[in-house]
Amino acid sequence: MTRIATLPPRTVDEIITRAGRSDFDRWAEQVTRSGHCSRPVRLRGRVEHRSASGRRVSYSTDGEPDRVLLIRCGNRRAAVCPSCSYEYAGDMWQLLYAGAAGGRKGVPESIRLHPLVFATLTAPGFGPVHTTRTGLGQCRPIRSTPRLCPHGRTTRCTATHSGDDPRLGQPICPDCYDYPAHIAFNWHAPELWRRFTIAVRRILAHQTGLTAVEFGRCCRVSFVKVAEFQRRGVVHFHSLIRLDGPGDDYQPPQISIDATALADAIRQAAAHVRLTVEMPDGSDLVLRFGEQLDTQTVNGGPTGELTPEHAARYIAKYATKSAEHFGLGERRITLEALPLLGVTDHVNRLVHTAWQLGEHPVYLGIRRWIHMIGFRGHFASKSRRYSTTLGAIRGERRAYRQQQAAEHARELLDEDTTLVIAHWEFTGLGYLTTGDTALALSAAARAREQRQAARDAA
Ligand SMILES: [Zn+2]
Ligand SMILES: [Zn+2]
Ligand SMILES: [Zn+2]
Repeated sequence: MTRIATLPPRTVDEIITRAGRSDFDRWAEQVTRSGHCSRPVRLRGRVEHRSASGRRVSYSTDGEPDRVLLIRCGNRRAAVCPSCSYEYAGDMWQLLYAGAAGGRKGVPESIRLHPLVFATLTAPGFGPVHTTRTGLGQCRPIRSTPRLCPHGRTTRCTATHSGDDPRLGQPICPDCYDYPAHIAFNWHAPELWRRFTIAVRRILAHQTGLTAVEFGRCCRVSFVKVAEFQRRGVVHFHSLIRLDGPGDDYQPPQISIDATALADAIRQAAAHVRLTVEMPDGSDLVLRFGEQLDTQTVNGGPTGELTPEHAARYIAKYATKSAEHFGLGERRITLEALPLLGVTDHVNRLVHTAWQLGEHPVYLGIRRWIHMIGFRGHFASKSRRYSTTLGAIRGERRAYRQQQAAEHARELLDEDTTLVIAHWEFTGLGYLTTGDTALALSAAARAREQRQAARDAA
């Protein structure tokens, strides 16, 4: 929570000015109704009702504080807007949980009995990086051979890196690191995933002694996945993969495969799937997933390794992260802007490599994605019948809010009305002063604490 004592004097003055205004309550209400968004869209405008008895203005922002209406920004990234990202993660959780546990959002409870596996697919190595994962407490202990790389640098790192050590994910030797292959992986990762899902189907068909067509008639592979950036700047995928029957009504697969067999098929598919891509120097590069692969069966009963609640929460958490913790931000950038961002040497090299690859036809368009280190896929995606959609969940909430808004402004519920015309004009993004922002953010923190307490108690 923002403590007034730690704020600059000017911000404190702005807070006092805001709180002393006669329309403060209405302003605070707008902040609440925008979901305590940290950088709401400011709109100016009016709503006109046209009825048989003539035209009249039924609402105008002229009567609002600062003559604007605040609308939530809707950004999914926690670093941009904690409140909107919290809401997004909540929606994601609903979607994921509905598909894992059923009994909601049009998915029957019997879905719990379908084979379901939580799987994390990583990228392979492109060169040694500083890590906490090699065990023995040390990053790259003495056992590494040879002791010097071709560039004369040591291949060892005996440090024990703490979780916030900026060296984590940085190459031991940047000149040994395969930057083009790294970027190629990010760029082609969506296609590699697609091939992986096809491979899962093929392997399951083979295991059950069916042809691909026969398999498709009795079983469907549904999934939802979220892409996450590892520290070294490469994407990996967290996913829930489920087997269903062929129809659209969430029937069980008409074939006997349990979650353990599904997990086996996922591991085999992830280990075997390959994608050969052309590199600018004319060579072929074979892309594959990394050997670090995690699968856990999910079940509401005693046999699952993970509960549906845990699996849904785990994936939803990643949905609000993005490449912005590499210092690249969320917007498209140019190479000229890169030095101003103060990124690490590693990120700098990644971005430049992506830019250079953009000269080659296979990487056409990659320059628009350098802020995502070459990843152009969706951060969250699902097969058609996994569960409901984010759009449907948002629609439900929007309908609820509109109803609340309508109750609030009874004049808008004019029975006479035949036509409503709205004129809106965008006037800016964010709050007008840092004092307003501080007020909104502290209210947001309080609201989140209350919601979290309610969720935990539920
Ligand atoms: Zn927002
Ligand atoms: Zn190290
Ligand atoms: Zn080297």
